Amino acid sequence: MNDSWCQAPIHQLRQAIERGTCDPRELLRQLLDRITRLNSSLSAYMAVEPERLTRQLEERVRNGPRGRLFGIPITVKDNLCVTDEETTCASRILAGFRPPYSATVIERLLAEGAIIIPRANMDEFAFGSSTETSHFGPTKNPRDPERVPGGSSGGSAAAVASDLALGALGTDTGGSIRQPASFCGVVGLKPTYGRVSRYGLIAFASSLDQIGPITKDVTDCALLLSVIAGHDPKDSTSAPVKADDYVGGLSPSLKGIRVGLPGLSDQGLDEGVRQRIDEALKTLWRLGAQPIDVELRHIDRSIATYYIIATAEASSNLARYDGIQYGYRAQAGASLLDMYQRTRGEGFGAEAKRRIILGTYVLSRGYYDAYYLKGLKVRTLIKQGFDEAFTRCDVIAMPTSPTAAFRLGEKMDNPLQMYLSDIYTISANLAGVPAVSVPCGFTSSDQPVGLQLLANTFEEAKLLQVAYAYEQSTEWHHRTPALST
Ligand code: GLN
Repeated sequence: MNDSWCQAPIHQLRQAIERGTCDPRELLRQLLDRITRLNSSLSAYMAVEPERLTRQLEERVRNGPRGRLFGIPITVKDNLCVTDEETTCASRILAGFRPPYSATVIERLLAEGAIIIPRANMDEFAFGSSTETSHFGPTKNPRDPERVPGGSSGGSAAAVASDLALGALGTDTGGSIRQPASFCGVVGLKPTYGRVSRYGLIAFASSLDQIGPITKDVTDCALLLSVIAGHDPKDSTSAPVKADDYVGGLSPSLKGIRVGLPGLSDQGLDEGVRQRIDEALKTLWRLGAQPIDVELRHIDRSIATYYIIATAEASSNLARYDGIQYGYRAQAGASLLDMYQRTRGEGFGAEAKRRIILGTYVLSRGYYDAYYLKGLKVRTLIKQGFDEAFTRCDVIAMPTSPTAAFRLGEKMDNPLQMYLSDIYTISANLAGVPAVSVPCGFTSSDQPVGLQLLANTFEEAKLLQVAYAYEQSTEWHHRTPALST
């Protein structure tokens, strides 16, 4: 079966479409054919409607803008609103919800000529690190279907890694773009808080959430970021900072770049991951980067701080799902209150309930000062630690995740173990700084490992340049998984 266009990075397809050697209709046909053959074994998408997508393409090829993504299908996570498309956050409580508007990132993709493929699987409301909390059922890791793809953007990452997507959007509140990118062997970037509009993203924790790209290589990541970044008057937290041309800034040189090494505790760090990170650092030094020891003060408090702030915000954001305005409603109860209770009891999964209870607790009178307010103070200290570190270095390097992809079910009965797997990703969200995960090799059991790079706020261009220089000197991004039909 010829589906070779699906394996190409977007920047190559773009040139092929411009030259007329790739017909967007054939590209979409190959992609839909591949999804039809392989999605049932991976569950990267919750549903795909081929006829609808083909109609969308026909219309856009005739009348759509010939922009930077003309004729290119882009996959989006199920928490990004797309007009009239069912958007559920992989939760029963949003079943049947069809938003009357699209997220700003969707509008920006469309304005460049992209075709939107919605409904990439995810953890319910993005609560999780494995895509196992999806009401729809878990996504499998394309390199080993016994393992998780990471989460919460596991559907997006698995789709890109298995060539069921050319590029995708995910969202990252505490690592949900970078960790699945790492587990699936692809590139994932969480932008600076405020860099990308959150308008039309169904909120998890509003002060931490960011939308970002998951792609086959760094150039595609830079391209998608260039399209989605920039100020949006519809999101009051979007920053009035001009987006750079991130693709134009890519260069293979690392001369003069200072890479901060935070000397984190390697408790829980898998030996195979440590080795690959050490080798990746040696590559950076060989390319001319300079190692600098830095201290990230209070970073050991990140997980506790995150799980207070994130659950507090989540409990408040999820209060709106009461069966009245959106999605699922339980069969009529004895009273209005009874209907609310039944709707929420039946509509939310176990992890969502856990977070609502935890978040409500830390916000309740009597505990607010002890937990939530203290969490906010520690968050400020963590941010100050980053500010200090970035006076001494350009980027910071560390693993994306302490382990490679774990087995399905391995951590589901132990939420604390699951939360601990976010140890290296969470601090970037608390501090609001951008961070990227790039493939840096494989463990002895052939699982991908991700190198994480972090930069100061709005320094995505620098971050992508370092990631690009590293990627260009390695072959990891060419090792795609072998899949059987
Ligand atoms: N794993 C983290 C959590 O469960 C992060 C999730 C995310 O980034 N959306 O909260």
